[in-house]
Amino acid sequence: MTQIPVTEKCLTQVLVHTPAHSQMAGVLSYWNETLLAPGTLVRVPLGQRELLGVVWPAEQASETVLDPAKLRPITAALDILPPLSAHWRALINFTASYYQRSAGEVALAALPPQLRDMSSVQLRRRLKKLAKSAKTQSLPTDSALNKTPSKPTPEADTVASAVVLTKEQRQAIRRFRDEAGPFLLFGATGSGKTEVFMQCAASTLVSSSGAQVLVMVPEINLTPQLEARFKARFCPLYGAEAVVSMHSGMTPAQRLNSWLAAHSGAARVVLGTRMAVFASMPQLQLIVVDEEHDPSYKSSEGARYSARDLAVYRGRLEGAKVMLGSATPSLESWHHSRPAAEGGRYLRLEMPSRVGGGQLPLVRRVDMNHQAKSCIISSPLLAAITGRIARGEQSMVFLNRRGYAPVLQCSDCDWKSECRHCSAYRVFHKIDRTLRCHHCGLSERVPRACPACGNPDIMPLGRGTERLEEHLAELLRGVRRPDGQPVRIVRIDADTTRLKGALESQLSQVHTGEVDILVGTQMIAKGHDFRRITLVAAVNPDNALYSSDFRAPERLFSLLMQAAGRAGRDETVANPSEMWMQTFLPTHPLYEALKKHDYPAFADSQLKERQQAAMPPFSFQALVRAEARSQEAAQGFLNLARRVAADQCDTANLLAQVTLYPAVPMSMARIANIERAQMLVESPSRATLQRFLSAWQGMLHSTRADPECKGVIRWAIDVDPLNI
Ligand SMILES: [Zn+2]
Ligand SMILES: [Zn+2]
Repeated sequence: MTQIPVTEKCLTQVLVHTPAHSQMAGVLSYWNETLLAPGTLVRVPLGQRELLGVVWPAEQASETVLDPAKLRPITAALDILPPLSAHWRALINFTASYYQRSAGEVALAALPPQLRDMSSVQLRRRLKKLAKSAKTQSLPTDSALNKTPSKPTPEADTVASAVVLTKEQRQAIRRFRDEAGPFLLFGATGSGKTEVFMQCAASTLVSSSGAQVLVMVPEINLTPQLEARFKARFCPLYGAEAVVSMHSGMTPAQRLNSWLAAHSGAARVVLGTRMAVFASMPQLQLIVVDEEHDPSYKSSEGARYSARDLAVYRGRLEGAKVMLGSATPSLESWHHSRPAAEGGRYLRLEMPSRVGGGQLPLVRRVDMNHQAKSCIISSPLLAAITGRIARGEQSMVFLNRRGYAPVLQCSDCDWKSECRHCSAYRVFHKIDRTLRCHHCGLSERVPRACPACGNPDIMPLGRGTERLEEHLAELLRGVRRPDGQPVRIVRIDADTTRLKGALESQLSQVHTGEVDILVGTQMIAKGHDFRRITLVAAVNPDNALYSSDFRAPERLFSLLMQAAGRAGRDETVANPSEMWMQTFLPTHPLYEALKKHDYPAFADSQLKERQQAAMPPFSFQALVRAEARSQEAAQGFLNLARRVAADQCDTANLLAQVTLYPAVPMSMARIANIERAQMLVESPSRATLQRFLSAWQGMLHSTRADPECKGVIRWAIDVDPLNI
């Protein structure tokens, strides 16, 4: 530790988590007996409380002269830990300024929660315990390896050569080794992207002693499978502690242990969800972002950061290579990976073929215009599913709506099951006969009769997964499995997986073949490796094509490609697998491209449209969202802040390149009795948008303080928003 003893009291600047809108910069001054290195964790008093903070020298020493007599001392320095690195601090500063939040909020949210309440004595005890358990867990060769892991051991070669790579995989790995990146690994589902990630991680780990690798996945559910693979590959080489996970599903103690292992360098591979982008990894040399298109990389509260975008930034900052991977890249990443001659900044690595030469599923469209009006499962689809059952194969049917029916309606009057507190309908759940609001949680027994007119005849309108499951069971009542047993259906959605362990047990039923049909929401379409599924069907995917959100087609295409990718992963199954779509728009270009599994054609047509409309990635956007007791107050605040900007930003000539649209209600205008409005800000230049936002932030704060705006509950800026 670089503590320099000095005789005088040392002025020490400390970053703490100040409330988001307190207008405090977050860097507070204290004194300490010794000079502490930047990045040192400390405990400091603030008012009556004691907080965790990080020693954080302000960028310039231009602040007013402080009287040391008035400064309070630091309570304790947690200097048993090495300080957080300059790169880590730079990442925090960048995130705070780019996403318009305070550095204190970002930094403290990036540290494990348990650390916030730990004294230095407790921390010391924890570290001792960890060191002890590491010793007992470790394999005999570990200590030697940990000291000199710079050369691949013979075992490393054996492990690596046990896997037979395809030509495409070998090419991708070679280019990763030879070039700087950042890379976009564009690989079909089943093309073996994970193996490429592991090989790249392996070559990074042997390339320099102590090197660390960060691998990000979009969902917690995807970590156990991946963790098992990485542990099997790397723990024999680098020790039992070498692979750790980091996600919000872990206990606070587990999270702290993983964080400490990453921070100390003991963890060589960190697997995690978006929060892991902030993991303290002093020797980070590779960041992998799997399924980089997934919207869950974007945070929806606090600092609304994109972990994918920050990964690219962090890679540049630390000199670490970055590899993004997807079968359906985000249009932003696709655009960035165009040829360098056209301005591309990423290297595109292509792996179009499936490992083992498996075929991508045949895409079939059912024109629902030719089906009976109330038809849910068309007869050709039903026949196909029945055929799969007869052959002992599994089908997956998905519908993006849980519950039994999205609305309950009176057949006499206009009554519908609206939520009292939200601008949404309450969903009918038949299993416990409730009407539940999926936004505020309001749940009530279904009324015996229409609350408006007393008519006992109230009907479910539309369908959710619960009703779909019931309907399929009815349709297949007379059908038998090859063993003569009735057909078994399992439903997987947020309702059936609420209990801990429920998802795992349902998934294992699918894997062991106990189940013939899997019904669910898009939750089942992502990532899971279902070997025995040979038919995937989207019951009603058209909705997204009518959406006002310009990203809806992109999300639909990727969802359907992902879903199709679930089918036919087992090359021992002889019949070609199928992806079925029931649609009223069978000739829509999106479905045409999907039929050919032609993501590039789809992406290029979407990018053309976006370019013509000057939409991202050809322009840059931010949203300011406001919540208030009334829609009028929420919009009033935004429109007032817009006028203030027009008055005050004129001189800087910023508004010549920035467009502020009028405030509008959000598509879900009211949730739990809170009205929500938003204002879109757009610019052809990212830098100009950034300059404008940082100037405007102060104006938003002072506008909020205006007596006219006292109905405003909160507001926030969302830079590069995903949902508009
Ligand atoms: Zn009625
Ligand atoms: Zn509600």
